[in-house]
Amino acid sequence: MTYSKSKGKYPLTPITSDWMKDIMAEVQLLEELTKQYGSPINLHHIPSFRKNIDNLNQVFKTYNIDSKIYFARKANKSKSLVRAAIDFKIGVDTASYNELEEAIDLGASSDDLVLTAAVKTTTMLKYAIENNVLIIIDNHDELRLTQKIAKDLNVIASIGIRLSGFKVDGKKLYSRFGFDIDKDIEHLKIWFSQISEFHNIYLQGFHFHLDGYSIVQRAEAILQTLELLDELNNSGCKITFLDIGGGILINYLDSKEEWENFKEGLQMAVLERSSPITFMNNGLGLRKADNENSVVGELNTYPYYNEINGSQFLEKILTYKKNSGPSVYELVNDRKIQLRIEPGRALLQEVGMTIAKVAHRKKDANGTWLVGLEMNMSQLKSSSADFLLDPFVIYQKPVNDGNAVELYLTGAYCLEQDVILKRKLTFPKLPEIGDFVVFINTGGYMMHFYETEAHLFELSTNLYILDTKDNKPPEILVDDLIQN
Ligand SMILES: *Cc1c(COP(=O)(O)O)cnc(C)c1O
Repeated sequence: MTYSKSKGKYPLTPITSDWMKDIMAEVQLLEELTKQYGSPINLHHIPSFRKNIDNLNQVFKTYNIDSKIYFARKANKSKSLVRAAIDFKIGVDTASYNELEEAIDLGASSDDLVLTAAVKTTTMLKYAIENNVLIIIDNHDELRLTQKIAKDLNVIASIGIRLSGFKVDGKKLYSRFGFDIDKDIEHLKIWFSQISEFHNIYLQGFHFHLDGYSIVQRAEAILQTLELLDELNNSGCKITFLDIGGGILINYLDSKEEWENFKEGLQMAVLERSSPITFMNNGLGLRKADNENSVVGELNTYPYYNEINGSQFLEKILTYKKNSGPSVYELVNDRKIQLRIEPGRALLQEVGMTIAKVAHRKKDANGTWLVGLEMNMSQLKSSSADFLLDPFVIYQKPVNDGNAVELYLTGAYCLEQDVILKRKLTFPKLPEIGDFVVFINTGGYMMHFYETEAHLFELSTNLYILDTKDNKPPEILVDDLIQN
């Protein structure tokens, strides 16, 4: 048995943790797991989740910031991660009734929960208020509904207000979410003043979650929110937290050079100056300009290589200074408020991998090898054009040198587009039926966010490893069996 990464002309070598390598060396274990749970399986490593939490907390500690992390649970469906978040004493950011209910059932206390759902039903709001869960309010209708429900229950609902429309470099950042920081500011001042009609609402804090991954935009948004916060606190509010959402970049790749070469290679292929490196020469957002001499559009994938990522990314936000004024963390500390973050992806760095079984091999009409997996496109899908990391193949028979083969991985949906990775892959040998293909670092969004049950296929099974003991195969636990 041996495992091998794809080694094409433009490799994209994923950062691969030791726990992942250990699993890939246990082919017998994978046999048993896929026999029992089908294919693909998603495997999660809880100690890595903990490490990611510790790294972010360390930054807050360095700058002496009163802080709180809420795991944005929508990035992965596994209960084991919610349980781990509770065990590791962080909060959980829930975005639906079911997410909220599950976190409560798993033992999260109301202090450790926030409800940020984009659309909130009466049932959901009532449940949150009854359980004393902080609600992030997105719009005026929601605010009024929350007031009404809290009044009917004769309680005070704790809320945060979601803001958007921050100005950065003279340009307003558009968002469909939240109250506009310019247009709604006068309303906010009235709603949360002495003459407010919202008697059953306590405004505890402000919240934002920005699209994209800009450090400067996040820092500027903090500064602008703090101004509003000061105004409201000066007029009698007692706002005690600022929640800056998620969007902390992570790094998936070993090498910057590989990333740059790949982007260059894709451009050359799109211009037809070299042979395709993607299925049907898919540009992943790029295409040839009308003059045929240049490439237009943008690479529509996650930016897989990031020198500044995780805790450093957070640190850059906290130490940002506008015009050599005080840094963000000083301004936060001066006000004695709590700074909150809601990382999803950043807590899932190196936490997950997806393992699928090879079902068949065939050559298409162009003579290209297609390797069919017991898996479908929705089980490795994000909002972007492709998952770019090189997968591994676990061969059950020895691999001899010299028979390298180019291939695409295809899935079980009856769609021409069910090509699991659009990248052309090169392996030392054609995989055989029953070999395994392994996708690395799929824990954040890739496994579940778009998973569907078309054709009535079963959803993939989620498994987890609580801890690893030296020189022993890890104990694999089943997520579905976690008792609430
Ligand atoms: C999606 C989301 C997050 C998490 O974003 P990541 O990029 O995974 O860190 C946090 N907060 C809100 C409100 C979100 O919608």
